[in-house]
Amino acid sequence: MVDRDDPFRTKNQLNARLEGKYHNIAENVGKCVFCDLRDKYVVTKQDQWILTVNIFPYIDGQVLVLPERHIENYHDLTNEDVLAGHELVKTGIGLLQRELEIENYWIILRQGPIAGKTVSHLHWNIMPYIEGLNTWHFQEISITPLDLAERLRGALEK
Ligand SMILES: [Zn+2]
Repeated sequence: MVDRDDPFRTKNQLNARLEGKYHNIAENVGKCVFCDLRDKYVVTKQDQWILTVNIFPYIDGQVLVLPERHIENYHDLTNEDVLAGHELVKTGIGLLQRELEIENYWIILRQGPIAGKTVSHLHWNIMPYIEGLNTWHFQEISITPLDLAERLRGALEK
């Protein structure tokens, strides 16, 4: 039986972002969607990492790379984790290039309370890039590059 109110119905997934429905779905799902990811969305798995489509994509071709276990903070990844995840990022990029001829993309990992991440489970977005999709708003700079380098080198020693 098809649940007509199921937010994960294909019809609801297609333009949930565009129609402003996504936030309501994300807030009411009540579980970690990445820990509960259905196999039908998974492209491939390797070394406890998953390459999956985004269930509520921003743009055609968006895929995600995430660890199978629930990790929220980048610092909780081991070096082995990072390398294994990176292999799947490369796989994802290669597949998008081959299948959709996507040449431009951003690889985005969001971290922190206002960074825009709605699923806490750590994930890289491989986001096909078209002009205007992602607009970076340049900010007024108050720390010179030399000062920043000096301060960060100093912080290395703390
Ligand atoms: Zn999770």
